[in-house]
Amino acid sequence: MAKLESYVTKAFNKPIRECSDAELYKAILDLVADRSDGLNTHHNQKKKLYYFSAEFLIGKLLSNNLLNLGIYDEVNNELIANGKSLMAIEEAENEPSLGNGGLGRLAACFVDSITTLGINGDGVGLNYHFGLFRQVFKDNNQKAVPDAWITENSWLKKNKKSYEVKFGRFSLNSTLYDINVLGYKHNKRNRLRLFDLDSVSSDIIEEGTIHFDKGNIEENLTLFLYPDDSDHSGELLRIYQQYFMVSNGAQLVIEEAIERGSNVHDLDEYAVIQINDTHPALVIPELIRLMITDHGIKFDEAVGIVRRMVAYTNHTILAEALEKWPMSDLDLVCPDAAHIIRRLDELVQNDFPNNNAVKIIDEHGRAHMANMSIHYGYSINGVARLHSDILKNTELKHFYDIYPEKFNNKTNGITFRRWIMDCNPELATYLDQLIGSEWRTNSDLTPLLDYQDDISVNTKLRAIKFTNKQRLKAWLDVHQGVEIDEHSIIDIQIKRIHEYKRQQMLALYVIHKYFSIKSGNIPKTPITIIFGGKAASAYTIARDIIHMILTLSQIIDNDPDVNKHLKVVFVENYNVTAAQYLIPAADISEQISLASKEASGTGNMKFMLNGALTLCTLDGANVEIAERVGRENIYIFGKQSSEIVDIYANNSYNAHDYYYRERIKPLVDFILSPGMLYLGDEERLRRLHSDISNKDYFMALIDLEEFIDTKEKMYADYEDHDRWTRRVIKNIGEAGYFSSDRTINEYNEDIWHLEQENKAIKK
Ligand SMILES: *Cc1c(COP(=O)(O)O)cnc(C)c1O
Repeated sequence: MAKLESYVTKAFNKPIRECSDAELYKAILDLVADRSDGLNTHHNQKKKLYYFSAEFLIGKLLSNNLLNLGIYDEVNNELIANGKSLMAIEEAENEPSLGNGGLGRLAACFVDSITTLGINGDGVGLNYHFGLFRQVFKDNNQKAVPDAWITENSWLKKNKKSYEVKFGRFSLNSTLYDINVLGYKHNKRNRLRLFDLDSVSSDIIEEGTIHFDKGNIEENLTLFLYPDDSDHSGELLRIYQQYFMVSNGAQLVIEEAIERGSNVHDLDEYAVIQINDTHPALVIPELIRLMITDHGIKFDEAVGIVRRMVAYTNHTILAEALEKWPMSDLDLVCPDAAHIIRRLDELVQNDFPNNNAVKIIDEHGRAHMANMSIHYGYSINGVARLHSDILKNTELKHFYDIYPEKFNNKTNGITFRRWIMDCNPELATYLDQLIGSEWRTNSDLTPLLDYQDDISVNTKLRAIKFTNKQRLKAWLDVHQGVEIDEHSIIDIQIKRIHEYKRQQMLALYVIHKYFSIKSGNIPKTPITIIFGGKAASAYTIARDIIHMILTLSQIIDNDPDVNKHLKVVFVENYNVTAAQYLIPAADISEQISLASKEASGTGNMKFMLNGALTLCTLDGANVEIAERVGRENIYIFGKQSSEIVDIYANNSYNAHDYYYRERIKPLVDFILSPGMLYLGDEERLRRLHSDISNKDYFMALIDLEEFIDTKEKMYADYEDHDRWTRRVIKNIGEAGYFSSDRTINEYNEDIWHLEQENKAIKK
């Protein structure tokens, strides 16, 4: 006891109860920093992992770090005894804006698990000052404003290391910031290594927008994550960012390896680099370049070394997301690396003559980052079994034919520290009582399955769900001024807005339900449907979808026949903090992507772990969830992945075939109803209507009728609370497989082969 008090006294010279939440936040930050600095690093180990990623969507760190240090209860009790609350104090912390979606969140879960398992491994990325953007709603539209998250009291710690990065026309010197990564009750720490530039300046941002001079690299380089690349200067900026990240990262890797005893000729015995998608793929030519110019290693030898130390994770098969950089741009940004890419491409052409599909540089002079990563990495993995199979059999078949041994699958996972212990403490504590606390270290929740028929467990789980609904209600009230009914069914779709994720379908369902309630079919239990997610600023249709949903929600709110039974909320600025309130409160998890398009999903896993039932297509990791819980405990609808692949191959989808159906046309046409046009923006609504009814590239309409029917069945099933909760128990009990500790254990066994101090994983 009184541990915190000494920090409070030192910083503010007054008792805890007289401190503001912001002051207490600062004091706890100091306490955690001292404790973390006291933990060991792994510097006695020879080999080290570097997880390179453009994003680390880490979420707030205060309570998570207390939890991982094992002092959460201690500090919380000390606060409670002084009339304070940790949850309130955490409001004083800004969520780090270093990522944007599933890929970035995966990287965050991974560094947590890497550390928890006692693996020597750091994350390497960039320190964006304003992240992607903060989403605010104005006139039913998304407005993007800078998300300033860095304050004096942040978790960033300046490191003395700095490297020179040579671009084509100028050089810049980096600054390195570290954030400690703590494992769960493990006595060693790792770090996030985030590179930045002192010269970056927010002065060049146009007030209240995310627009800035994209040509001013010195001042803009680390302002934003994924700056708009719809024009040439934006595309160049992305390459500048990527090259800056990997050049710094590669110099760090080599310097640290030398410190540990490497002579660089044996670099692959000292370091392994996992690249999270292709944003860091330029690390391949950059490592080769550094070995040649700084360490006197010959080209062929350098290529051999890199081929033993880089592994690549593929996250998508969407063609538009596979990065291809014009060689002319690379020549401008990083001419020496571009030269090496040409030599690497020549090697490929010698080894595989006339095999156009596997060339690095295509006939338009564009370098394919994925192709380079497969040729010059030793491992390529997909992120769920279905996704990995599609890579092997379809998208990357030409590569699988020549390198079958490189291909493997690593089904994604989520860290149970954040996604149950931190966000759902009531459930975590109850699980301890019921099945003991071993699940906290081995992720094994199967002992819960013995309680499926236990009425008292059933009742308690529903009470916990209700508590979480109340907490969400309070949070939504404070943050957005919206009121939800804590007694309603909570039905949630939260994820980036993208046509393939098909938010349009849930919106069309809302219209169906609106009609149905208008005609007198009152739901037994009121329904709250919650959307959340950002649309890329240049992605017009995605922004139209947001506009449509916000307008629709206003119509429903204004309608006294309906608003007591149906409520639609679009959560502003969906991020990790929001997810931690939303997911524990959910009854229904919407995972309705067009089959074959969602690589894995990890939101699906978080919902399952927190006792929501899944409504899904057989896509990504949903397939593996269904396999584990059984078809009777999940709601599946829609076309299968193989059917969709065929439809695309034959170009046989015609939106009109579905749009003109009796059940569908009125729903789509409601987008252009007088009420919608009155409240909404005609241009946006017309464009969206036309897109869905004429084009519908991601086939929202193909599965719509089945979706509506499955949802109606789900709501009806909800009324049998006991049976519903038995299914919930089955879902929680089977969620252990989706722990990122299991995923990281597999990465290490199959790809990295590093020392691992903690094997406490149940497969
Ligand atoms: C988990 C998570 C995601 C990924 O969600 P999907 O449904 O898998 O796309 C995106 N954003 C945040 C904030 C998350 O926590």
